[in-house]
Amino acid sequence: MADFEREYAAYVGVEHCVGVGNGTDALELALRALGVGAGAEVILPANTFIATAEAVSAVGATPVLVDVDEEHLLIDPAAVERAITDRTRAIAPVHLFGQSAFVEQLLGFGIPVLEDAAQAQGARRAGRPAGSLGRVAATSFYPGKNLGAAGDAGAVMTDDAGIAERVRVLSAHGSPTKYVHEVVGRNSRLDTVQAVVLRAKLARLEKWNELRRQAAERYATLLADVRGVRVPASAPGNEDVWHLYVVRVADRDRVLAALTEAGVGAGIHYPTPVHLTEAYADLCLPAGTFPVAERAAGEIVSLPMFPHLTGEQQEYVVQRLRAAVNRV
Ligand SMILES: *Cc1c(COP(=O)(O)O)cnc(C)c1O
Repeated sequence: MADFEREYAAYVGVEHCVGVGNGTDALELALRALGVGAGAEVILPANTFIATAEAVSAVGATPVLVDVDEEHLLIDPAAVERAITDRTRAIAPVHLFGQSAFVEQLLGFGIPVLEDAAQAQGARRAGRPAGSLGRVAATSFYPGKNLGAAGDAGAVMTDDAGIAERVRVLSAHGSPTKYVHEVVGRNSRLDTVQAVVLRAKLARLEKWNELRRQAAERYATLLADVRGVRVPASAPGNEDVWHLYVVRVADRDRVLAALTEAGVGAGIHYPTPVHLTEAYADLCLPAGTFPVAERAAGEIVSLPMFPHLTGEQQEYVVQRLRAAVNRV
């Protein structure tokens, strides 16, 4: 386990990596290590996997959702600035779909940045790895991620030795040494078997990410003349790892149904922005609060994307997508 932690820290270019049980725990323990608790507010994007918000709720803090930018669906720094109050204790940008969020703009607000890097293993922004851009980062090695274990796993990355130590103690029953319990912690270990799997797969991650990039380029070429399909583009300065390849179409539900019917494994990430889920109804943020995230939720389709996707498979996907948007 220590070997994997050391290798992953080196890969991300940070001093410390602490393996934990899953990505949600990684986010939660990182928040606790930052001292975020009851009465605090944490700013995060409205269109993320719900775990980002759950981690904030789990530490007793309030998730403060904000809208995203129209082009990349990443947290909008201007919206973050407007949402800052004297209770804001952290900003949690999400590196959605394998992109890197505009972290450098968030750092200027002087509030600790916790990167949710679960979808961005190997991504870079201005040459620096996602996971090394903020004060602390959390990632998930759930099997479906770019670097996936054979079951649940996660990690916290940071240059801050104090944060790393607090995460380590909290994740091991509040115990820096056996049977000495300083704080009420929990059990969130990185399983040794998962660490072995992750070590073996980490050695292949750059290659797999390169194959995803090539697949993304092939999609862009194949889709260039398909009217009615908006393709994703990398933000300037970003080297994305295409965790998901998300296009936008009108009449999405019909298009998705046609793809599914044709045997294409397409999906929606995510159909419901956090504020419109039943779980977060108590935030009392009605439809219309975050227009960009809400409109996108009705237009997005994730096309099949994995390292060994073949050109032939992509041609079929695009052929069916073209037919669906043209209603042929
Ligand atoms: C997968 C994911 C998580 C949570 O990871 P788990 O290991 O499933 O707990 C958190 N945030 C984002 C953006 C994710 O994609």
